[in-house]
Amino acid sequence: MSILLGFAARHQNAKDPDVKNFNRLARLDEYLKLPENEVVERILSKKAELGKRLIILGHHYQRPRIARLSDFVGDSFGLSEKAAKAGGDFIVFCGVRFMAESAAILCQPHQKVLHPDPDAGCPMADMANMDQVNAAWKALENWTGSKKIPVTYMNSTAELKAFCGQRDGIVCTSSNAAKAFDWAFSRGEKIFFFPDEHLGRNTAKKMGITGADVVVWDPAKTNGGLSQDEVKRARVILWAGFCPVHMEFKLKDIQHVRHFYPGCKVVVHPECEKEVVDAADASGSTEFIVKYVAELPDGETVFVGTEVNLITRLAQDNPRKKVFKLQRSLCLTMYQINLANLAYTLDHLDELEPVELSPSVKAGAKTALDRMLQLV
Ligand code: SF4
Repeated sequence: MSILLGFAARHQNAKDPDVKNFNRLARLDEYLKLPENEVVERILSKKAELGKRLIILGHHYQRPRIARLSDFVGDSFGLSEKAAKAGGDFIVFCGVRFMAESAAILCQPHQKVLHPDPDAGCPMADMANMDQVNAAWKALENWTGSKKIPVTYMNSTAELKAFCGQRDGIVCTSSNAAKAFDWAFSRGEKIFFFPDEHLGRNTAKKMGITGADVVVWDPAKTNGGLSQDEVKRARVILWAGFCPVHMEFKLKDIQHVRHFYPGCKVVVHPECEKEVVDAADASGSTEFIVKYVAELPDGETVFVGTEVNLITRLAQDNPRKKVFKLQRSLCLTMYQINLANLAYTLDHLDELEPVELSPSVKAGAKTALDRMLQLV
């Protein structure tokens, strides 16, 4: 109690962001104490009451309970398309912050986008800090006059999407990265790809771009750790970011399962390192992985290298196949969305603050997202 009183004494302004967050957490605490079935009942009754006015979007990596309560479950590309076309007044996004931001950029003006935990960010998106991105772009502009097209993975901040939109660039997801690379090469000589080094390298390899044509800009090093000659020679410059969840899968894991389960299939996400993707039977977006497992013949054994909540659901949805995880790898920030904060959000739709972005960020990011949605 003394901690609460101390907090209240320091922050007396109800508009103070710390106070708002404190109030939200204090009220959320009541929901966390409720029995799970009661929380589910509240969510279901709110869905029934609001009908088509409410749409709940859930990413594939959400806990199975959250995924089952969502109106649509998909990968970031599928959900961004849903957000762009969704009717209704409220879009509640069960995913990480960059996804809720994308929904807020693509939705209609009257719609309100809410994120059940505004603190649930993506560690990879946060690896591309805008000061570092601007400094890197300036250095590249000084080093080479070649036309560079910035391409950012969907898993990036709205500011980085806007940066790309304002410089003739585009957003891509893991399902359309190769198309976005084609699009970019039809407009420029080099691609600067953010923030996932591995998706960038795996996509470049798919297009036959390897060796010295691909370099990595490491923002922690002077001049990104690159020489002017390396940059001039390269066709693809990758930002040194990574997804901690997909970095957990290693080549030795694939060798291990192939040894003990001869004939098994291995499918991984392209955010994994290149040697892991190369050793797998297939790689692709979460939507691709869902389809790959669904289309395997009954009785097949498959090891999946992606976030564990999706693998749990795949195993439940494919009972005639043996679906195993290659490693247990949980996305902790996706896991921050739970039944309690979803129920709390639904009960306070009118009073909670929506996901909001400055008009210039919104316009720039929308340009880059629209270019992606028009890729065929
Ligand atoms: S799985 Fe990786 S890329 Fe996706 S939200 Fe989690 S940390 Fe970010």
